[in-house]
Amino acid sequence: AVVTARGLSKRYGRYQAVAGVDFDIPRGQCFGFLGPNGAGKTTTLRMILGLTPSSGGTLTVFGLDIPAHAREVRAAIGIVPQADNLDPDFSIEENLQIYASYFGIPLRTVNRRIEHLLEFASLADRRGAKTETLSGGMKRRLTIARALINDPELVVLDEPTTGLDPQARHVIWGRLNELRDRGTTLILTTHYMEEAERLCDQLVIMDRGRILDCGAPRELIERHV
Ligand code: ATP
Repeated sequence: AVVTARGLSKRYGRYQAVAGVDFDIPRGQCFGFLGPNGAGKTTTLRMILGLTPSSGGTLTVFGLDIPAHAREVRAAIGIVPQADNLDPDFSIEENLQIYASYFGIPLRTVNRRIEHLLEFASLADRRGAKTETLSGGMKRRLTIARALINDPELVVLDEPTTGLDPQARHVIWGRLNELRDRGTTLILTTHYMEEAERLCDQLVIMDRGRILDCGAPRELIERHV
């Protein structure tokens, strides 16, 4: 397993946002957290990334304890946050260059990766455009491309297609399936069973900080829908 959680919990004051969850995320699969607003999905992702300290339980990523090894673990993870946080002052290409500089990747490698990622995100012909001139779907594709700049083994995506039109969602789903087929482990949160069914090998259904069920999308649909 790439990620293992046992009894993982998070409390904000008296509020229990994540109430002792157990899960194992296998390597090379797409693993989903499905649930409504406030279920605790983002909080769980933030604990995996070492950005929010847990209140209890154990968590390992790549076999290393979090948060003790959070920094080194984050260097091998790609992160696609819920809200687009691209830099509006820079072009598409500059956003990728600046992000790459945080990882200390050699310039020749960066330039090679950027060419590849611009193709992957179908943004090669817009490389000089300011990000504020892009559509929502293009911004998402750029955010995903940016998350791949460090050639991560694991990519964590918080609601990758929320707010996009159906066509833009299909394009993103295609790109994420490509990544998974290449062996990258994906973890995502979503509100949509359709998205989970299209992308996930396994998922958990979360509500009010608890895992209600887990399995392959088809199994869950047969059990619950
Ligand atoms: P959404 O689908 O809306 O993103 P979510 O499943 O990702 O929801 P979380 O963002 O993990 O839900 O939030 C779970 C609960 O924890 C919510 O009730 C939220 O208000 C609470 N919460 C999250 N962050 C904080 C914080 N920093 N301080 C206090 N409460 C918080």
